[in-house]
Amino acid sequence: MKQMLFLLTFLFLFLHHPATSSAADLTQLFLNGTKVNTEVPPQIIKGNTVVPVRVIAEKLNSKVAWNEAKRKVTVDKSGTKIEFTINDPTVYVNGKGFTLEVAPLLDNGTSLLPLRFIAEHLGIKITWDEVTRSVFLSSMETTATSANTETLSTLQSIQSSENDVSVQADRSITTDLFVLENPNRIIMDIPYSKAVSSLKNEIPVHSHLVQKITYALFSDQPTIARVTIDLKEKVVASTIQNKEKNQITLQLAQASHPVYKVVIDPGHGGHDSGAVGITGRFEKNFTLATALKVKTLLDQDSSFKTYVTRSDDTFIPLEDRATLANRIPADVYLSIHANKAASNIRGTETFYSRENSISFAQIIQNHVLEATGFPDRHVKQANYKVIKDTTMPAALVETGFLSNSEEEAALFSENTQNKIASAIVDAIREYLSIK
Ligand SMILES: [Zn+2]
Repeated sequence: MKQMLFLLTFLFLFLHHPATSSAADLTQLFLNGTKVNTEVPPQIIKGNTVVPVRVIAEKLNSKVAWNEAKRKVTVDKSGTKIEFTINDPTVYVNGKGFTLEVAPLLDNGTSLLPLRFIAEHLGIKITWDEVTRSVFLSSMETTATSANTETLSTLQSIQSSENDVSVQADRSITTDLFVLENPNRIIMDIPYSKAVSSLKNEIPVHSHLVQKITYALFSDQPTIARVTIDLKEKVVASTIQNKEKNQITLQLAQASHPVYKVVIDPGHGGHDSGAVGITGRFEKNFTLATALKVKTLLDQDSSFKTYVTRSDDTFIPLEDRATLANRIPADVYLSIHANKAASNIRGTETFYSRENSISFAQIIQNHVLEATGFPDRHVKQANYKVIKDTTMPAALVETGFLSNSEEEAALFSENTQNKIASAIVDAIREYLSIK
């Protein structure tokens, strides 16, 4: 009756907390090559991995009993009897007491015990895999049968095409898939399998999404084959199992990402030359050249759709520039300028008009300032029409002073323009949190 109650409690908790075991970043447990779905994820407490004892013990054909009144768990496994009480660090094995560093605990109705202790007393070998952040357990008894070569599948080939990677075996295979980030890669573990000796460790790649495909025998006890797919970018992955053909196909699709609309506004143009530099050079030419460099860089990245308010020496009224950005509607707006004052005045400054533009202006200032190396004139508020009448985060950068001979020379150099352009792109990426 007690066991029945325990089971019901377990089912209830399981049904009501289905998400707890599926979060991707949690430690996963594998027993003899098969994933163990635990109602409560393994946890690390004071450096000890604690795991749900019941699910593991039952998979090892042990009997588990729970005494609700005494909060006591008894695990019975052919001659070994483990008894423990929740929150009591003393655990009894066949009547002999052991003191644990971490006392047994109850989490969501599930009792957890330090993994090392369970493993030692139930005869399990533990392997921690840092790559997939998983704990692999193998019991001595069952591996004796799985080591029998008759039950092993032989992987005959691993092939890559543009959108998939397929594994061909001589009998039916299954896989545990790990989709990992930083770096982006996919691990396909194929339990009870081993590759034919002629299979190369590095598989030729025929996909623009994939960097490298490698094969290795991950574990010998039990036998687990591991195919590692290093990716060039984040992908959406799924597998198709074809039992008749003894084949598993990993399908890869480009992960969709948001596309940000960016408006780059080269100041002035046409009859409006903007500032005239100390040697007579026009601001409008500097702003256009630099804006087009920014556009070229942004266009290389599919995260952006880039617009320029002018792409040649044309006069565009200020209100038309703001209207264009609002109509798109753009996600960010940057107006590029250069300044004029007394010849000894120098420096880079960035303006915002509205509250929602302060952080964008600050990030632009940080990056552009670093690129120019000019004095820091900081971020300031000013109601310039293009940054006031636009609605999205908008900034106007005064990169430097054309009235200063040193800054004019730098701003008209290819080198400084390229540096400013890539600084602006870095700033936009940082602001939009694009990696
Ligand atoms: Zn200007």
